[in-house]
Amino acid sequence: MVSTAPVAPSSTNRSANRSENKADTAEIASSLQYLSLAAADDSPNQRLLPLTAEVNEKDHLVVGGCDVVDLIAEFGSPLYILDEQTLRTACRQYKEAFERHYPGESLIVYASKAWNCLAVCAIAAQEGVTIDVVSGGELRTAVDAGADPANLYFHGNNKSRDELKLGLDHNVHIVVDNWHEMQMLNALAGEAGKKATILLRLTPGIECHTHEYIQTGHIDSKFGFDPEQLEDVFKFISEQGKHLNCVGLHAHIGSQIFELQPHHDLAEVMVRWFQVANKYGLPIQQLDIGGGLGIRYTESDDPPSIDEWSKTVCESLAAACAKNDLPLPKILCEPGRSLVGSACVTAYTVGGQKTVPGIRKYVSVDGGMSDNPRPITYQSEYRVLAANKMSAPLSETMRLAGKHCESGDVIIQSASLPTLEAGEILVVPATGAYNYSMSSNYNRVPRPAAVLVNNGQADLILQRETYEDLVRHDRLPESLKPQQ
Ligand SMILES: *Cc1c(COP(=O)(O)O)cnc(C)c1O
Repeated sequence: MVSTAPVAPSSTNRSANRSENKADTAEIASSLQYLSLAAADDSPNQRLLPLTAEVNEKDHLVVGGCDVVDLIAEFGSPLYILDEQTLRTACRQYKEAFERHYPGESLIVYASKAWNCLAVCAIAAQEGVTIDVVSGGELRTAVDAGADPANLYFHGNNKSRDELKLGLDHNVHIVVDNWHEMQMLNALAGEAGKKATILLRLTPGIECHTHEYIQTGHIDSKFGFDPEQLEDVFKFISEQGKHLNCVGLHAHIGSQIFELQPHHDLAEVMVRWFQVANKYGLPIQQLDIGGGLGIRYTESDDPPSIDEWSKTVCESLAAACAKNDLPLPKILCEPGRSLVGSACVTAYTVGGQKTVPGIRKYVSVDGGMSDNPRPITYQSEYRVLAANKMSAPLSETMRLAGKHCESGDVIIQSASLPTLEAGEILVVPATGAYNYSMSSNYNRVPRPAAVLVNNGQADLILQRETYEDLVRHDRLPESLKPQQ
């Protein structure tokens, strides 16, 4: 039995990013100031806005060379605006950092659940970043986007038989999560007359300080093999896993993490299990340390840069291998949020306003929990900018409400904004990750469109849903059809 790493020292996130009701924006005088926030840093995850954000002579916010007010006029509201340059820069920074800091082979894998659609997968693939998928639907999208199937990584704690078959058909790497799946896959691969290429997901027993729902690495987690059972798993594969080719180990400790220590500890845990797997003769060549690097959602968030994070995991893994006289495995990491999160802003149009005397003012916009479920799910904090009057003083404090029939549908509890009128355009930054991908049709609200912006050009990448789309899968039994 190998013991797991000690729990990381308990420093908390430099900002918890979930305090209620308290706007931290006292020192921000106008939306303009958000532009210069961390502008000296070139790591996209440290910026509140995309790298190309600027203000034009009309005092409007510009992203990717496109005036946000014009984009709304052309493509409608609300609108996801994805900055191609920021996304590509984050991909390149990860690749270059791993090449710089790791003496062996490395591979960056985009955790596409952050934003899985054809255009985002295609950009990752073009940048030489491979893709991880967690369902048959994500797999299909990545393949259609042109990603090389042999370099896809298929995760999930309850892949169905059909999903496993799909993975086998495309010869993807399957990250096996549990006994049930391992036995089913061994049998399915046998029936198909092939060997499945697999990695084993282990629960590393590392705690980190992020929201409870997005912690995955502690022992009491639904994901991965419990460390107590890993040796039995290795034994099973070496003795009975005829149709399994186990090439790697995988772990992922959580999301929106600002600490480096847990990632350092994880590298050491992985290397210890690497050593044990070797004893059982498994041909392990890949150690996949997952994702988790946080991004800036507010001025008080202060995540490490992509380069600092990469340096920590690469050096920790290389040092642990050297200490144990192990050959250097290929290192893989799986950033999701920190690749795409800071590359997108969501633009909304101001609707009605209401003042509750002596309490607060509400301003409502034309979207909310259906296009961004993070505030209602995780109490996540966001900031908002007045995109059509960036230099207007932030003279008021108001609650930014969504349009859904749910009192909790609040995008920002306490936002600093200029005085607003209906029809003005607001922008919420850092919405690239877990917004569109977690969006819903709650209240039968059609999903917004998304545009990819670059050098003044805007291309539609997700068409706005229509009412037709919403009823497309409804069926009315004969007995319920209106009588003629
Ligand atoms: C969600 C997830 C990731 C990405 O996490 P981020 O915090 O978005 O970087 C990576 N690997 C696995 C297995 C995941 O489930």
